[in-house]
Amino acid sequence: MTGERPRTEQPREFGFETRQLHAGQRPDPNTGARAVPIFQTASYVFEDPESAAAYFNLQEYGNTYSRIMNPTVAAFEERVASLEGGCGAVAFASGIAAQAAALFTLLEPGDHVVSSSALYGGTVNQFKHLFRKMNVELTWADPDDPEAWEAAVRPTTKAFFGETIGNPSGNVLDIQALADTAHRHGIPLIVDNTFATPYLCRPIEWGADIVVHSATKFLGGHGTSIGGVVVEAGTFDWSNGRFPVVADPSPAYHGLKFHETFGAYGYLMKLRAETLRDLGAAMSPFNAFLFLQGVETLSLRMERHVTNAAQVAAFLTGHGLASHVTHPGLPDSRFRPLVEKYLPRGAGAVFSFDCAGGRDGGQALIGAVTLWSHLANVGDAKSLIIHPASTTHRQLSDAELLAAGVRPGTVRLSVGLESVDDLLWDLEQAFTRVAATLPREEVTA
Ligand SMILES: *Cc1c(COP(=O)(O)O)cnc(C)c1O
Repeated sequence: MTGERPRTEQPREFGFETRQLHAGQRPDPNTGARAVPIFQTASYVFEDPESAAAYFNLQEYGNTYSRIMNPTVAAFEERVASLEGGCGAVAFASGIAAQAAALFTLLEPGDHVVSSSALYGGTVNQFKHLFRKMNVELTWADPDDPEAWEAAVRPTTKAFFGETIGNPSGNVLDIQALADTAHRHGIPLIVDNTFATPYLCRPIEWGADIVVHSATKFLGGHGTSIGGVVVEAGTFDWSNGRFPVVADPSPAYHGLKFHETFGAYGYLMKLRAETLRDLGAAMSPFNAFLFLQGVETLSLRMERHVTNAAQVAAFLTGHGLASHVTHPGLPDSRFRPLVEKYLPRGAGAVFSFDCAGGRDGGQALIGAVTLWSHLANVGDAKSLIIHPASTTHRQLSDAELLAAGVRPGTVRLSVGLESVDDLLWDLEQAFTRVAATLPREEVTA
């Protein structure tokens, strides 16, 4: 400290940890409440008939009805937008709703999307089945081969979609290469950043145009609520000729030209005023409050998630009853260069490995753990475990499992915040039970 005052009045750029606590909120002007109040209200009394009309015309920005906006939800939206480096955000009732809305705002029947083939299972279902019903065509592209994405582009292609860290092999997306390819064709890149969170990776800094999240996972961080959010960079040119749906007069909003009228906010305004209005999958104020509590400690939790996960991955790599550990931060992972570029703080906390003994071995391991919770979720403060072959993929034969990138003994972990020695202890005692079920020759050191 020199005691000198700063000479210029440049607004200060606050750090990530400061923004995760303060962005999008001031103490409540009416009550002084320090926490974000839960505005549990469906609607809002208008000051006068003129302002009511101005809100509905989108000439002024104001609260009308909580399906479209709500002050508690708005604090969450602004906070996530700030952490991702976007110009704004719109929250949804779930991650699945957020990504559907992000895409449907751009798509018309007959349009086409190029998507990474390594995706969260729920997203695969949505793209395969719901999109078909909407007459949207899809090409699955190898996330590790940007040239395949370029080759898939058609005149009707409206988006590239991928996950920062994908399922089930821990694929790390080459965001910059895909953004460059997309932009050469006037197409936006949409990145699902759920597994990384903005603490580990901010896709917008690498050229992504839209970021989507399942807030259910690490953003909330405590496994209490379902929610999602869409963030936009605000830099994509929606008037480039490929997106009349955003640029031309909108029949769903009395002829409004969203991009011309709102500039950088055009896409987000259309996402809120039309897509959220018409799909109705709004985040509840109470869930927004819980997500805000989670986001306040995001950096601290992610630091522990990634160090615990790296230790569990190292333990499994050296274990005679485990193989195929997919943690992308491992020294021999083929994703190591991408991890160094995009995820220098850590390669997330969700990965899988194969347990000796195939289907029976995996099931025995799951049955024997005591601290790891056997359930279908990720990103909780508590450590989670699941055996796809006996649960989510139960109906598949071994050959079908393989085609889905899952082997009979594959076990997926979401490493939580417990004392890591306890997590390793629990896995070790469970492996001892697995070993007891194996024929002798499979138990190697
Ligand atoms: C869970 C998840 C989703 C879906 O989010 P919900 O909140 O469950 O609707 C989408 N993408 C990824 C990567 C997820 O983990």
